[in-house]
Amino acid sequence: MKVKRDFLRKIVEEDLRLGKYKKVITRFPPEPNGFPHIGHAKSISINFGIAKEFGGLCNLRMDDTNPTTEDIRYVEALKDAVKWLGFEWNGDVKYTSDYFAQLYEYAKKLIKMKKAYVDSLNEDEIKEYRGSVTTHGKRSKYANRSVEENLYLFEKMKEGKFRDGEHVLRAKIDMTSPNMKMRDPLLYRIRRKYHFRTKDSWNIYPMYDFAHCLSDYIEGITHSFCTLEFENNREIYDWILDNLDLKSPRPYQYEFARLNINYTVMSKRKLLELVKGGYVDGWDDPRLPTIAAFKRRGYTPESIVNFCESIGVAKANSVVDMSQLEFSIRDDLNLKVPRVMCVVNPIKVTIENYDGFEEIDAPFFPPDVPKEGSRKLPFSKEIYIDRDDFSENPPKGYFRLTPFQPVRLKYAYIISCQKVIRDAQGNIKEIVARYYPDSKSGSDTSGIRVKSAIHWVELKSSKRVELRIYDRLFKCENPKGVEDLNPNSLKIIKNAFVEPSVINSNEVRFQFEREGYFYKEPVDYCEANPVFNKIVSLKDSWAKKAEFRQSSNISKKTNTKEQIDGEVKPLTKEEQLLFDRYTQELKLNSEVANTLARDKNLAIFFEEALKEFDLAPAIANIVSNEVARELKQKGAERLSFEPKDIAKLVKMIDKELISTKIAKQVFEEMCKSGDDPEDIVKRKDLMQISEPTLILPIVDEVLANNPINVEKYRSGNKKLFGFFVGQVLKLSGGKANPKVVNELVEQKLNIKL
Ligand code: ATP
Ligand code: MG
Repeated sequence: MKVKRDFLRKIVEEDLRLGKYKKVITRFPPEPNGFPHIGHAKSISINFGIAKEFGGLCNLRMDDTNPTTEDIRYVEALKDAVKWLGFEWNGDVKYTSDYFAQLYEYAKKLIKMKKAYVDSLNEDEIKEYRGSVTTHGKRSKYANRSVEENLYLFEKMKEGKFRDGEHVLRAKIDMTSPNMKMRDPLLYRIRRKYHFRTKDSWNIYPMYDFAHCLSDYIEGITHSFCTLEFENNREIYDWILDNLDLKSPRPYQYEFARLNINYTVMSKRKLLELVKGGYVDGWDDPRLPTIAAFKRRGYTPESIVNFCESIGVAKANSVVDMSQLEFSIRDDLNLKVPRVMCVVNPIKVTIENYDGFEEIDAPFFPPDVPKEGSRKLPFSKEIYIDRDDFSENPPKGYFRLTPFQPVRLKYAYIISCQKVIRDAQGNIKEIVARYYPDSKSGSDTSGIRVKSAIHWVELKSSKRVELRIYDRLFKCENPKGVEDLNPNSLKIIKNAFVEPSVINSNEVRFQFEREGYFYKEPVDYCEANPVFNKIVSLKDSWAKKAEFRQSSNISKKTNTKEQIDGEVKPLTKEEQLLFDRYTQELKLNSEVANTLARDKNLAIFFEEALKEFDLAPAIANIVSNEVARELKQKGAERLSFEPKDIAKLVKMIDKELISTKIAKQVFEEMCKSGDDPEDIVKRKDLMQISEPTLILPIVDEVLANNPINVEKYRSGNKKLFGFFVGQVLKLSGGKANPKVVNELVEQKLNIKL
């Protein structure tokens, strides 16, 4: 991977280079007080990811120092999450409670060094004595206790001789420190509670600041990564480890920004509220941002890890858009799952001139997905189509079935509507249609033009299924609480119909064509009631809504960046110079030139690529489209390719080593893996085939398979030429050189028999 190193990786790399540590050991240290969420996935992918990358190890440590909120159930959920995301922890799961005895000894050592004391102020007094950001704190009078008295009291605290809150153990640091955290921080508190692992053995529990650094040290952790809110705790972390005179090497703490996502809540406390209050159906309710929910909904672990990598590691907090997560899911599923048909809102169609039954071969994957497989689609006189795919009074631009407009049944025939049958209330109950026998997909010679293809299922062989359609759990970007819940976040459809291959398949994830990606509900699915969860839609419907909002009058004011009252913002002087250079000197078309000139990052990228390979129009094209999209999504810092890689890609197109279609596929791969385009082409065997002797057999095959069309072409239907070329390209997996294919098809078709 050539992804730019983030600052954490740079630190690790440098430490290894300087020999500070022999081996990297990180840890993921959750508190088992709730189910892990997508924020934890980020921390997991950083800690486990870095360890893996540098040949080290990562511990999974339950930070179980608060007996009141923790539970074994959460431990299991955390283990599940790490495993599901594809990571392996070092040895056994570790627990801070394993170290309670050692920590107790370290505390006594600090007391003996006169660096810790038992304080007997109450909670309010402790707060008051701490001072504020603008005023110094004041040390407690108990800080003068002798070592013996402190040891004695500390032991009695441990034995449970005092009530909760009666005493605490504190570090003696500095009540005037500008860092409030350093004003004699608490090290231990009394909690006479049952602990899920140590049971009743302890009546005192170490505070995070004391337990964490020492647990890290005990485990031999080298790099202790945590989120930004612990920045001020770092000084305590260092103080404790340094003052205890420990054998080196010791760990160091580094902070990174928490992941926040809009339209959801992410703290375990808020999630617990939703679960306990019955607002959702348990911790794995598919609408929650927990890992268990993602798993149940059908998200893939790869897409979560990809997402965590794509958002990068930064030092400043920010909010990531939910659609970016959804993009990662879609992006992953697109290349993996079979396409099948499911009619969500069925209406019966009777094809009056069709008799009998046939099975139609239909591929599971579109041509641009490099996977194989097909199924037989039953077809008969009676089918279901979606109610939305028929309109008696079609709005302008409606391309589907109407009383006056035929439509193609995907993979099958073209049908036209003959009549509509209504029930007593006047609702459409059934459509009577006719089909065109010579319009079968793949060998259509009917000459009928349709504007779209719709999905359908054969009535008798199809199977009724339940669909659970999820939307965002909250209706606003930054939800405060349950008052912002989206009332429509779950819709249940009881009466959808799928083609039989879905039920008989071993696959668990599908794309229901035109409807979205779906997952076999792992808990509730049964033969009598097959249930599917909607994983994600095919397109980002929220973006459309947002765009709509933007272009409507309501928010026109916020949309002043590029447009001012419908007029295009004039170019600045600098931009104008660039624009002139691009249009006049480099002969780019003005649209491309405009895009490049207005975006400084793009322009720089373009100029750099141009230095590598001097083919301005081709480079400009890909930079102003594909690169611009990536740049917008990820930012310049996180692009996984460089200008020279794009130059290489264009060079391959120019030399006709790959087609422009394949180039797009290579580009997607570059975005994902950061690999060199030439390596990708080699690895995936995408080299364009221009050798006629390799293409001829494919042309022959296509002609042999379509004798009727060949005959029609030869007897004058020249429009079919494109059909043959398309079939050959498809059969070659998009690798055949279109120019050569054109020539060969032409030759073959025009041979006089
Ligand atoms: P929450 O506030 O959701 O309860 P937490 O920080 O209390 O989270 P822990 O169980 O203590 O949860 O966290 C375990 C690890 O995961 C910590 O290192 C923490 O910094 C990290 N982590 C928690 N939330 C996020 C997040 N949103 N983004 C990145 N890392 C996170
Ligand atoms: Mg917490």
